[in-house]
Amino acid sequence: MENVIVLATGNQNKYVEMRQVLGNLPVALRGLADFAPVPEAIEDGATFGENALKKAHHYAKLFDAPSLADDSGLVVDALDGRPGVHSARYAGAAATDQDNCERLLWEMADVDHRAAHFVCVLTLAGPNGTSLSWEGRCDGVILAKQRGEHGFGYDPLFLIPQLNKTLAEIPLAEKEAYSHRGRALAQFISEFDRVQEWLRQQARANLAR
Ligand code: IMP
Repeated sequence: MENVIVLATGNQNKYVEMRQVLGNLPVALRGLADFAPVPEAIEDGATFGENALKKAHHYAKLFDAPSLADDSGLVVDALDGRPGVHSARYAGAAATDQDNCERLLWEMADVDHRAAHFVCVLTLAGPNGTSLSWEGRCDGVILAKQRGEHGFGYDPLFLIPQLNKTLAEIPLAEKEAYSHRGRALAQFISEFDRVQEWLRQQARANLAR
């Protein structure tokens, strides 16, 4: 079990971003597609941190392997923090990214103060119940119209003021330099010695079972 981490997300866009940033680390990365289908985690936490922990524990138990989960979303000042932990389903249970963007534009039609930020909490959990977490944040402004073709989710509406571009107008490698997920992943990489020690502990605990 040493040196294996499952990138425990069913969101293909998140998976691609995580793989792109973590791809060179001396650890074998697996995805959900490498395992038989399992039920999804129930994301009913009140915070990104709670949901990331729920997802990481859920998959670590099912796969009996260290699992890295991402819970993330958009926090809009003028909407009292909405859509927040409900970002994926803002326009309803079966909402597409386009539906969610349209709902956001509709909610903000008469709003002048358009500051917002993305949050990403990454949690690495092991089958023995222990975990490590990292958090990244990205500040920006919600546009009145979508711009750009890259990325996913609310990227076409989220302007990075210092670039005067949305997250959907820049290539993936550049997105990771600014984004909430890129920043959380950068912390994960900077603490990779600690992660490796934690992985060794997981392997020892596994042998003792
Ligand atoms: P989760 O799967 O519950 O963590 O929900 C994540 C949702 O937040 C996504 O479906 C998007 O709507 C939004 N989101 C998270 N990260 C990003 C991003 O990097 N760009 C755009 N939208 C994002």
